[in-house]
Amino acid sequence: MTTESFRPEKKITTFYPPQRTLMGPGPSDTHPRVLSAMARPTLGHLDPVFTEMMEELKGLLRYVFQTTNLMTFPVSGPGSVGMEMCFVNMIVPGDKVVVCRNGVFGGRMIENVERCGGIPLVVEDKWGDPVDPQKVEDMLKKNPDAKIVAFVHAETSTGVQSDARTIAQIARKHDCLTIMDTVTSLGGTPVYMDAWDIDAIYSGSQKCLSCPPGLSPVSFSERVVDLVRNRTEKVHSWFMDISLLLGYWGASRTYHHTAPTNSLYGLHESLVILYEEGLERSWARHRRNHEALKAGLKTLGIEYVVAEPYRLPQLNSVYVPAGVDEKEVRRRLLDSYNLEIGAGLGDFAGKIWRFGLMGNSSKLENVVFCLDALEHVLI
Ligand code: PLP
Repeated sequence: MTTESFRPEKKITTFYPPQRTLMGPGPSDTHPRVLSAMARPTLGHLDPVFTEMMEELKGLLRYVFQTTNLMTFPVSGPGSVGMEMCFVNMIVPGDKVVVCRNGVFGGRMIENVERCGGIPLVVEDKWGDPVDPQKVEDMLKKNPDAKIVAFVHAETSTGVQSDARTIAQIARKHDCLTIMDTVTSLGGTPVYMDAWDIDAIYSGSQKCLSCPPGLSPVSFSERVVDLVRNRTEKVHSWFMDISLLLGYWGASRTYHHTAPTNSLYGLHESLVILYEEGLERSWARHRRNHEALKAGLKTLGIEYVVAEPYRLPQLNSVYVPAGVDEKEVRRRLLDSYNLEIGAGLGDFAGKIWRFGLMGNSSKLENVVFCLDALEHVLI
């Protein structure tokens, strides 16, 4: 390769993305206030003005997670990094970990446990069903030496919500710590980390928080802090070692990695927006728009995958009507309407669509626009 041999076939110039409406499983539409926040001048990650903002950001995250945990901050990386951070810090090889799987993301948790040298004890539920707390209880009775219970609060691959409070109560009764995935739930449906007694939680910036992808808010209880402090072997990831990261996010502000400052302005702004709206009002908005979409889908004869009491308002998974080419529908929605909806994953590939109404995408005009476009495409 020489400088002259780089001859692209088409002229290379600035990238201008089309203006889509994002109504899939994430990312959702970034709030315009978040986009402008991210366009502000870059600051150094140790600049005192920036570090002051970091403190406010931690406080706002405590508000959205509903926790007083000191160890609450955003990790630089997508939701998968938040997930991995929980497992890599909390598991030592040989630990038994109960993992609830009722969709794709529970499966990823199993992968994480195995890669950390843990032994996954898998509680299986059908795709589209919530986690059955009784099965968790039975598994813990059979395995009194289990250390952790891990579950996905809002399973994005199916659109189902599980009963976090009950699962966490069972885990505590059996002296286990809990890891909860709130990538799709945070901001869209109630999450009460302290009241539900959850030990480790992670989320993602790109769904109900209306930010671009790339940041993962996490929070850890004092029990996790003690566990990590008392580890005799090093955490197997340098980047995700909580104790090292805390050097930067804690009082000493030691350099750990160059934090993505502009993305953090964006997350800060999105949390300010959520705080101004109020969590309860945000949850109510997500529910209202879900009800509107549900009513419209019914008139089109489209049926939901998940039973009514367990449906996520922000992630509506529905069966593709018989005889319809689901891929072609999604293509036409994208090409003719600039509208993105989600396909099925794993067991549900080709069988379902997923309509996201998350964060800034959860608004009535999107519901009306989507139903209208769908009706035209389905004719
Ligand atoms: N967990 C759940 C429930 C998710 O929906 C996702 C992404 O959609 C993830 C974890 C992984 O997040 P990311 O894609 O940001 O790494």
